[in-house]
Amino acid sequence: MTPLRGGCACGQVRYESTAGPLVQFICHCRDCQHASGGAFSAFVFVPRDRLTYLSGKMHHYDVKAESGRELRRQFCSACGSPISAHWPTSPVVEMLTVASLDDQGIFAPTHELWVSRAEAWHPFHPDTIKLPEGPAEGVVRDPIRAYFAARRE
Ligand SMILES: [Zn+2]
Ligand SMILES: [Zn+2]
Repeated sequence: MTPLRGGCACGQVRYESTAGPLVQFICHCRDCQHASGGAFSAFVFVPRDRLTYLSGKMHHYDVKAESGRELRRQFCSACGSPISAHWPTSPVVEMLTVASLDDQGIFAPTHELWVSRAEAWHPFHPDTIKLPEGPAEGVVRDPIRAYFAARRE
């Protein structure tokens, strides 16, 4: 497949993933609103061991997500563009912000999370499954497990 490439607004941070997205969603939680500066965050998940940060320097901050799980959010140290996030306690996947992708057209979200927190002034995607709060266990975990199980075969 064509690698996923992306980076920040100022061009210093660049990355490349040789694996395609495992999970794709939009999250309306308050924390994602803060992190994106907009109504929601949009993410594609890739396996961390297939992702390479090629250049630039990132800062990060850790937040307790509305799920209760600690999340590390990373952004360009020069321009502040949100780039990615992962769970420090289980760093097998990296969530790349859709805004950071060179080709945002590949984004095909399956779910919208925390729609109970969604801003009234922004419409929803027509084709997603809407969840009032965080994902049911399987929504994120199952595709990730299936991917790593298939790799071991
Ligand atoms: Zn930058
Ligand atoms: Zn969120």
